[in-house]
Amino acid sequence: MQVSQALEAVLTSLPDDLPPEMQELFGPGILTGGDVLPPHLFYEAVEQMSVAISITDTDANILYVNAAFTALTEFADYEIIGQNMSRLSSKATDVSVYEKLWATIQAGEIWNGRLVNRKHDNGRYLADLTIVPVKTSTGVIRYYLGMHRDVTEICHLQRQVEDQKNLIEMIIDNAPVVIALIGLDGKVIIDNHAYKCLAGEMRGREPADFFLEALAGVLGGGLAAACEKQTPISGLEVRFDPGGEKPVRWFSCSGQWVDEFELATNTYFDTNRHKALLLVCNEITGLKRQFDVARLNAVRARMAEEEMGQITDEIIFGALCQLQGPINVIKAMAAMQRRQGGGTTPMSAALDAVLASGSKAIETLQLSRPVRPGEVRMPVNINEVIRDVLILSADRLSANGVIVDWHPQSELPSVLGSMRALRILLKNILSNAIIAIGEPGAVVREVSIRTAVGPDGMMEICVHDSGPGIKRAIQSKIFEPFFSGWKKHPNSIGMGLSIARQIISELGGEIYIAHTTRHGCAMCFSIPVCGADESISR
Ligand code: FAD
Repeated sequence: MQVSQALEAVLTSLPDDLPPEMQELFGPGILTGGDVLPPHLFYEAVEQMSVAISITDTDANILYVNAAFTALTEFADYEIIGQNMSRLSSKATDVSVYEKLWATIQAGEIWNGRLVNRKHDNGRYLADLTIVPVKTSTGVIRYYLGMHRDVTEICHLQRQVEDQKNLIEMIIDNAPVVIALIGLDGKVIIDNHAYKCLAGEMRGREPADFFLEALAGVLGGGLAAACEKQTPISGLEVRFDPGGEKPVRWFSCSGQWVDEFELATNTYFDTNRHKALLLVCNEITGLKRQFDVARLNAVRARMAEEEMGQITDEIIFGALCQLQGPINVIKAMAAMQRRQGGGTTPMSAALDAVLASGSKAIETLQLSRPVRPGEVRMPVNINEVIRDVLILSADRLSANGVIVDWHPQSELPSVLGSMRALRILLKNILSNAIIAIGEPGAVVREVSIRTAVGPDGMMEICVHDSGPGIKRAIQSKIFEPFFSGWKKHPNSIGMGLSIARQIISELGGEIYIAHTTRHGCAMCFSIPVCGADESISR
């Protein structure tokens, strides 16, 4: 009698703010939809519910339990009715949880939480429990309605997933490579610590935007199109220039097209998974530097060899010029002897013999001149040429206390030329600039290098030194072989600018002294820039 009364009281006085699963069962549609349904119907409904239901008095003494309760706890109803709900306590739940539970329900509020319960056989399970205070029409709490279900398995799985997620996140976060999961709209979904560090260095610029821009050539018509085609992204080198004094960094980027799960409820049955790009960028600056050191050593060795060849050539050329004068005199004397003697005379024969051996000597010297390898023209990054020459001249520059002012342009078209020839050309000009700064009349010790592309499609490279400058009177002579106007180096052979002019004319360019309002000399040369069908360097 007490049980059915309690149940009826519970069912007819349920509050409006019931949890959703209870509203479904006891909601107003059943209770206020016209005629009041008989209590045994509610009893049957509660009895058959799959959730464990208990009704207690205000001290948590059990008055009623449903079939699901006895099935879950393994306590028969006659064993548990009349007992306190604390029979289910495993003593593994923190007291503060119970304190909060009681404070809530005694204040007439609904409590929901998780408790570690024990079954009849002492087996433990995690219960997800909701307790609803049942009040009289005057608001006095008469009963408590408890509903709980076993969430041990779900919790276990949730924890496993959580652990795995944490582990994966920890691995990704600590990976020494930049990782970003990028949606097809270009927005970053997941990133890692290395990515965040790079973002800091990029001062507000999103690294993903930077990498996608750098990979635009491979991605073609954008992320969505590349994903559609499953465009492979593997080991692509990307250069990042942080600007200022900071060194350039290099990354090797690879990408994987992945399916990204959509966790929103309204897309639960949506089988169209969202695609994303998993971008992994490995920093290879160290490797690049090692490679660069090896390359520069090779360039240094080759340039030393070429310099030797140049010096030998200059000496032989000088000797040839020296020989040619006396030979011409002998030739004239032999001709005069023949004219005066009316034919061959012993003197003219002797002079002919000297002439023949002199010509042979000239021929032998001509043959001993080092042969310059044929130049193959190809797109050359002029920044690379300038950088190489500056590194190779670093010792000379610092020994002479020369400061170099050069800010390489990040976007510079390639020029059509030969790396080797351009290096020799620039080295000769820089070498003159260093000597000029050591000459009397130099104000400061500075060399500035500027690059610019003119409207005629030629790239102009100017090396401006702070030396005494070149007087107008000798400006036309300085490109001639064996001209030297240095005051402190009177014995210089004077072939550097002559060789520079020869190289530049072979490349289809021009070398000239530019007019400048500043102190010193601005030695400039222009070279054709690569056409649209030729590669453009960065
Ligand atoms: P106790 O030492 O008895 O209590 C721990 C703390 O809880 C106390 O320090 C006190 O602050 C508070 N407390 C206990 N009883 C009362 C009270 N009558 N009034 C005010 N504060 C009190 N517990 C479970 O472990 N599992 C369940 O499934 C469960 N279902 C419940 C269902 C309903 C409808 C109700 C009303 C209570 C339920 N409880 C349940 C709580 C249970 O009644 C005990 O409070 C709890 O089990 C703690 O008992 P204990 O003997 O381990 O600790």
